[in-house]
This record gives sequence, structure tokens and C-alpha cells, in this order.
Amino acid sequence: MVTLTETASFRGDDATPLVEASLACRMCLSGEIDWSLRVDEWDAEVECRCRGCDDLRTVSLTGEQALRLSVDRRLN
Ligand SMILES: [Zn+2]
Repeated sequence: MVTLTETASFRGDDATPLVEASLACRMCLSGEIDWSLRVDEWDAEVECRCRGCDDLRTVSLTGEQALRLSVDRRLN
């Protein structure tokens, strides 16, 4: 089985709109995304579900990116 996992493209010091844009839906280009962060000892990823077309995808993160998303979550 082949797992297609994207790698997030934002940087740890990017502004929130850039972070959100990098998680936007690839199917319908909607920026309306529900995401949940999953971090364990070895890696981090974010599961993104599009509110527009219900597309579900997983994006792998660096530690820096995971930290950036966790900061955003606290602000939400
Ligand atoms: Zn979509």
C-alpha cells in the first residue's frame, strides 16, 4: 500500500494567513479547513478535513511547524 503524505510548506515564523493557505484544500482550494494536530515522539502531522468538499488528507510536519500550529490553536 502506498501512502501519499504531503509535507507542509510553511515556515515556523510565517504569519497565520500563510500557514492557513498552506493547509488549504487541494481539491477545491477552499481555505475552510478543520485540522487536528497529532504529535508523537518521532514525528508530527496534521489531519485536515475540508469544510467545502469533505476531502480528508494528512500533512506531515517538522517539529517547528507543529509548534507553529499549536500556537495558532491556542489563539483560536
Ligand atoms: Zn475541498
